[in-house]
Amino acid sequence: MPVRVMNLPANDQTVRITVLTWSRALGDTLLLVPALRAIRGANPEGLIRLICGPEPGQLLSRAGLADEVGDNSDPRLALLAAGVEGTPAADYAGRESARVGQPHEVRRKHGRAATLPGAGHCGADWVGAGESTGAAGVLNKDAVKAALGGPELVVGFVSRTCELMSGLELVGIVGLAVDPIPPPGVHAAEHFERSLEAVGIPSLWEGAEAVAPVVVESPNVPSHGVLIHPGSGATWKCAPPEIYREVAAGLARIGRPVAVLEGPADAGRIHAMEWKGEIVRAESMVELAHTLQNFNAFVGNDSGVSHLSGLLGVPTVALFGPTHPDTWRPLGPNVRIIRTCSREPESRIRVCEDPHCMAGIEASAVIAATVETIKPVQE
Ligand SMILES: [Zn+2]
Repeated sequence: MPVRVMNLPANDQTVRITVLTWSRALGDTLLLVPALRAIRGANPEGLIRLICGPEPGQLLSRAGLADEVGDNSDPRLALLAAGVEGTPAADYAGRESARVGQPHEVRRKHGRAATLPGAGHCGADWVGAGESTGAAGVLNKDAVKAALGGPELVVGFVSRTCELMSGLELVGIVGLAVDPIPPPGVHAAEHFERSLEAVGIPSLWEGAEAVAPVVVESPNVPSHGVLIHPGSGATWKCAPPEIYREVAAGLARIGRPVAVLEGPADAGRIHAMEWKGEIVRAESMVELAHTLQNFNAFVGNDSGVSHLSGLLGVPTVALFGPTHPDTWRPLGPNVRIIRTCSREPESRIRVCEDPHCMAGIEASAVIAATVETIKPVQE
């Protein structure tokens, strides 16, 4: 199986690179920021198209990290998502591949190469632009290329790398597919960013805390206190509401006003907090970025909001438990992690199954970290 490395043309030529994730989640998408910056650094005159969920895409485009955004539910991308459970295009892809009968054939082809030493799990983490299978004629390659933005290179951070690479091979575009789960102890964002070295894009990684803040211009509203968000995309990542209740009460006692952020799925948690004070909501992720920047500090779980807060440079205290901060901590210069779980990092997202994993977190520790993080950094 030939492995082709793409040498980027000199900077005076425009190179179009498309970055693709099937995730619609804010946190997952924000972990691509260092990779997007590395691509920009290696190719300043080039054009970056980011294909992701529309809301995170709008946010990262607003912050100048992508020149164009595409929606990963675009049915024209279904070929590349074939068989990937839970992806927006999956249903469509399933129907389409059944009709065309193609991804199956491609998988068998790569299955035969799976024993090659040093190759990925399907034997083809790399496929050069070139020959496609005989059945490719029934595909509308131009539609797929148009949805991708007509790139010279596609970099996909996707769990089913074979399907993406097989699809790209069919339409004749060079691709790099990277499984989003990093090796144990490696930060996911570092894993994404360093994977680009394979296509000649040098890494700029110096640690999660060295990632410079993302700038989302925001109306200048005087900052007011601490914003607490008790929710997360997964309930098992959430510290018990009692901890947040104690944190809010403790901060109020020392003269720090507190507001609680309510996302679409957070009403139950806020009710369990018995919160009677100010509640803040955001209509979009761009508005959420504006809101976060109006607070002196943010306290939350391992969630997309915590990732955004950290990346905006807002002083952030993130409560961790079943996920490991070495892999998933929010990026940015002013992030503190509180975690009492002793499970080590592993090659999976959830490393602790204890339902009471986060119950040992002390509100006093969270309050102390919050107060500490608000202080300006002294040289
Ligand atoms: Zn635990």
